[in-house]
Amino acid sequence: MKRAVQIRQMPIELANKIAAGEVVQRPASAAKELLENAIDAGASEISLSVKAAGSSLVQVTDNGAGMGPEDAVQCFERHATSKITSAEDLENIQTLGFRGEALASIAAIAQVSLRTKRAEDEQGVCVRIEGGQVLEDAPCAAAVGTTIAVRNLFFNVPARRSFLKAPSTEFRHLSNAFVAQALANPWITFKLVHNQHEVYRLPGSRAEEFSDALRERVRAVLGTEVSQHLVLVNESMSYISAVGFLAHPEHAKKSRKDQYLFVNDRPIKSPSLNHAIRSAYDTLLPEGRHPAYVLFLNLSPKHVDVNVHPAKTEVRFDDDRGVYNFVQAISRRALGIADLIPQYPSGASSLSFQRGANDTSTSWKPPPRADELPPVQGEQSTIVYDIERSRAPSGATLDMEGFLWQLQDHYILTQLHNGILVVDQRAAHQRILFERALADLQAGIGLSQQLLFPQLICLNQGDCELLRELSPLAMALGFDYSISENRTVTVRGVPSDLQAGAEKKILQSVLDEYKSNSELKHLSIQDNMARSIAVRGAISPGVKLNEEEMRTMIDRLFQCEDPYRTPSGKPTLIRLTYDELKQRFNRRVVDHEESD
Ligand code: ADP
Ligand code: MG
Repeated sequence: MKRAVQIRQMPIELANKIAAGEVVQRPASAAKELLENAIDAGASEISLSVKAAGSSLVQVTDNGAGMGPEDAVQCFERHATSKITSAEDLENIQTLGFRGEALASIAAIAQVSLRTKRAEDEQGVCVRIEGGQVLEDAPCAAAVGTTIAVRNLFFNVPARRSFLKAPSTEFRHLSNAFVAQALANPWITFKLVHNQHEVYRLPGSRAEEFSDALRERVRAVLGTEVSQHLVLVNESMSYISAVGFLAHPEHAKKSRKDQYLFVNDRPIKSPSLNHAIRSAYDTLLPEGRHPAYVLFLNLSPKHVDVNVHPAKTEVRFDDDRGVYNFVQAISRRALGIADLIPQYPSGASSLSFQRGANDTSTSWKPPPRADELPPVQGEQSTIVYDIERSRAPSGATLDMEGFLWQLQDHYILTQLHNGILVVDQRAAHQRILFERALADLQAGIGLSQQLLFPQLICLNQGDCELLRELSPLAMALGFDYSISENRTVTVRGVPSDLQAGAEKKILQSVLDEYKSNSELKHLSIQDNMARSIAVRGAISPGVKLNEEEMRTMIDRLFQCEDPYRTPSGKPTLIRLTYDELKQRFNRRVVDHEESD
């Protein structure tokens, strides 16, 4: 027999208690909410004091705007917020808080006391609230600002309290939440005290630029060792920008502890963006190591939804894929143009690691001795990466505004912060075409450029059959043609971005390359096609490039999965550092007397 049920409104305390489960999972979540409120209140000094890893006390004191007597009580009501008033505001959130449920949730499951005062008020106000019940609300002496103490979290939800982890674990979460807010607000002075012991004292930065202030703060929280070797990321595109630091691969850790990602100054968790950054390090990191990073993404609020999760630790982008690609590309570029790119293997580099051209494994190898280094010219199957532990690549960015110069219509020269970058234009173009071809083959749609006059080619029996076989792939690459009975092929379109003038013969040429590859190498059909188009479609030495073409070439090269080598393993670029130049000029040549 079914019993009739009656639906009734939940008592408000019960509703708050249930809601609290979503907002407050552990002491660290309470700390995060209180810190956010202090930041939103415009404080320049914030201190977090905890006892017993937060389970007996989480207290935040700030010198922000404070609250008047009415707000001091009202702030504990559900959906009480001073931060948004309309649905439109939700589209354009500028504060960390906006849901108006943190204090209500915390007060539902803890013993909370508040002391607050605004600058314009004579007196402050003290409020005590326990399990959602207001026990005290009275004027009191107070400094301008707010102190909120949260005692005995989950005191009235014993089941939740028993879920708390070991104090060391809870404190790690707390300290992480604290550090995240401290990183996002380097101009604010922060302090963390645990059981009366000062864990962090972080004076607010005086630097004007955010990246400078952030660097100071990163140094203070991540330690000087990691901070010596930070790679600056500072890029913007139409709707998204990024600023932050990536640690050198040598400082990669076994834990993911030092990974901080922010979207519009809000610390968030995103396995996908974490993957984007990790993948940029590629083989620079051994398996099981995680790079330290602090990265801030900024997007116009209309491209990102922060109202996905009650604890506001997740966000949703309207263009997930685009954001992923952006993060990966900028990380790759930042790492590629710091001290990590292939260096002229002169033997001067003392600490290097290498990987073979066809070696995609991620394990580290012992550095080669100078006499084991491969020759510079000709077929070279080993790339030497120099990671130069002795110097900090601080603020290493490719000076893309700087000069670009084409040497012998063959090499592109540009300046790095600590040297010169030389890019082989043909090798670079091969890599770019190769990766694009692989992507096109996977997606099944390549960009095609239509020929003004369709091109007729006559194929022999064998080639004609091969072309029929390869047709789906050729079409995916951007070829557009039809084959008639008498083995005449009418080519109407070819892949875009090929060397000028290559359009006419490219189909036959790709077929030829494909055939010779199939004889010599064991490649998959896709790989063979991609290599063939890269080898036959890339610009040759001797082609003049204008400045924009050079810039685009370098930009696109650094967006590649593996910008450092051609599909067949030759280097695409070489870096020459000023140190190395200095060294070479100081070298004494034995047979010649020094004249100066
Ligand atoms: P939200 O931050 O989403 O608005 P909260 O429950 O965290 O919701 O806070 C409710 C309101 O209490 C805030 O909107 C703000 O007006 C006020 N408040 C909370 N903490 C502080 C503080 N430290 N200083 C000044 N006002 C505060
Ligand atoms: Mg809040």
